[in-house]
Amino acid sequence: MNPICRNLLLAFLLLPGGCVRSNFNLATQREEFTLTSTEREVEAGRVIARRVEEDLGLVADESLQRRVREIGDKLAAVCDRRELVYSFGVVSDEEVNAFSLPGGYVFVNEGLVKKASSDDELAGVIAHEIAHITARHAVKRYESGIGMQLLQLATLVGRQSTVAKGLSVAAQAAQLAYARQDELEADRLAVKYLRAAGFNAAAMLTFLEKLHGLDRKKLRYLPRHIVRPQYALTHPFVPERVRAVKEALFGVADYIDYLNSPD
Ligand SMILES: [Zn+2]
Repeated sequence: MNPICRNLLLAFLLLPGGCVRSNFNLATQREEFTLTSTEREVEAGRVIARRVEEDLGLVADESLQRRVREIGDKLAAVCDRRELVYSFGVVSDEEVNAFSLPGGYVFVNEGLVKKASSDDELAGVIAHEIAHITARHAVKRYESGIGMQLLQLATLVGRQSTVAKGLSVAAQAAQLAYARQDELEADRLAVKYLRAAGFNAAAMLTFLEKLHGLDRKKLRYLPRHIVRPQYALTHPFVPERVRAVKEALFGVADYIDYLNSPD
């Protein structure tokens, strides 16, 4: 960790509420230690979310926003961290992607909404993003020092500084990739939330396979520097994710999925 990162981490964690606390996480079903209070987490998410909205812009189509909000509200009502106030927004971006921020902020790109052929498919993506928040994946990443990006973003935005190297805050927030185990945990939790909210959880599989095919098609036909495989970039390990979802849905995965899995 370089000195600047270390100082940012200290500045972030030593703010009011920055003491070690133990907490039973309902999502992960584990006793977890954290340095970040929920208030601090919500504040960091709120600051970055505001910047995302400024940078990318929310889609003006109110019916589209309402559709995503209504699906999100149903899932938030049954998720493992109901004490948070969740917000759902569709951002003006044609890339097929979605992302969440700590504290309850979920964003879906317009491009992804268009790709989803049903509310169930859209709900699968939103449930996965909610699960990253309920399991506190982003918070754990910056507390462990592995992923400093969110912390840096929060500090930079908080100080109203310009972001280095011309990368917008929104672009950086949208490109945070989680670890493999976080992705698989988010998928398993997503299945649970989808079922509890009355959605067809199997739609996660069709949408994952659709997105996987999309990324592969882009990679096959276009030079990598022209089109980045966005969903593959922020949500890798698709064959393993398909297997995790199948296990959560049916209790067992197809033999072929084991063969396709790298480990
Ligand atoms: Zn994810």
